[in-house]
Amino acid sequence: MDRDRILLTPGPLTTTLRTKLAMLKDWGSWDADFNAITAGLRTRLLDVVHGRDTHVLVPLQGSGTFSVEAAVATLVPRSGHVLVPDNGAYCKRAAKLTQMMGRKATVVPFAEDVPVSADAVEKRLRADPSVTHVLLVHCETGTGVENPLAEVAAVCERHGKGLIVDAMSSFGALPIDARTIRFDALVAASGKCLEGVPGMGFVFLRRAVLDACAGNSQSLAMDLHDQHFYMEKTGQWRFTPPTHVVAALAEAVAQFVEEGGQPARLRRYADNCSTLVEGMGALGFKPFLKPQIQAPIIVTFHAPGHAAYDFKRFYEAAKQRGFILYPGKLTQIETFRVGCIGAIGRNEMQQAVNAVGDALREMGIPSGAPAL
Ligand SMILES: *Cc1c(COP(=O)(O)O)cnc(C)c1O
Repeated sequence: MDRDRILLTPGPLTTTLRTKLAMLKDWGSWDADFNAITAGLRTRLLDVVHGRDTHVLVPLQGSGTFSVEAAVATLVPRSGHVLVPDNGAYCKRAAKLTQMMGRKATVVPFAEDVPVSADAVEKRLRADPSVTHVLLVHCETGTGVENPLAEVAAVCERHGKGLIVDAMSSFGALPIDARTIRFDALVAASGKCLEGVPGMGFVFLRRAVLDACAGNSQSLAMDLHDQHFYMEKTGQWRFTPPTHVVAALAEAVAQFVEEGGQPARLRRYADNCSTLVEGMGALGFKPFLKPQIQAPIIVTFHAPGHAAYDFKRFYEAAKQRGFILYPGKLTQIETFRVGCIGAIGRNEMQQAVNAVGDALREMGIPSGAPAL
């Protein structure tokens, strides 16, 4: 079978043919035609958060983590102190990269099956005035839980703290409005809900804090302040851009706008998510999160309790049927994850459920129900 499998993973994900075809052209990185693509992309992305008046958009080469690292390096002075509410693997990664860059990081731990509490964040800010920034993961992709961005942003504003948001897996799908939610930096990437291919991230930086960012970064390549002003001056990326990725993202964003923007994308993903959860439920599977805190991005399911279950075999059986699942990321209990994002709809989700049902039958497992 040489057809592409459907990726039920949170990036890379399934893209449209139109997006893939946009990569069949070579661009000169200094050329005016390519610079126009970058410039158009920057304004279109600002429009997604209604941020033209308040923010600038700085693209950066690399995977999403590179841009989180760049946001912290650029925003947080070396003497800064970052508070990281932690309810999962991506929060832990954010705290680790902050520490590794020599900034002080304090983790506020939460259970993995509940959202971060804005009240608890506020208590910590009251107790420790040395905190300069809060780093919030909007949708914790490790489980799929949605964290309360608006509430945490309000707390940060009230206390005069900077806010850095890792909105990697939520941007484009969940509503984020820069006119009502104050953030200093918000990070996302090409290969998630915008349905581009992986290879670049981008960071919205608040204009009001931009000048104060000069000289913060300990890294040349990660310096978003430098990247921004160079791009403003020359229209070009500082260092070799991922030209094909940029062209594909521009095409993906054009389709995003045609589809109806963020509200339409959320509707499709929410439909994907409910189709998945209902279908899997009928097979006996149980989601890890309560429905009211589940973002329609990625769903964590408990592994079946049956003795014959083995993730590798299960994965292979689903793959044989055309669907790529994702391993779990919880340390305490066995789970697996299924993404709801990408250029797919209800039909693909229903087919994925059918494939999972067939995979269970092949393994001799009568039900996806977890162990009690
Ligand atoms: C995907 C993702 C990232 C970035 O991961 P990369 O592997 O570096 O692309 C960061 N944070 C969250 C919440 C994500 O979902």
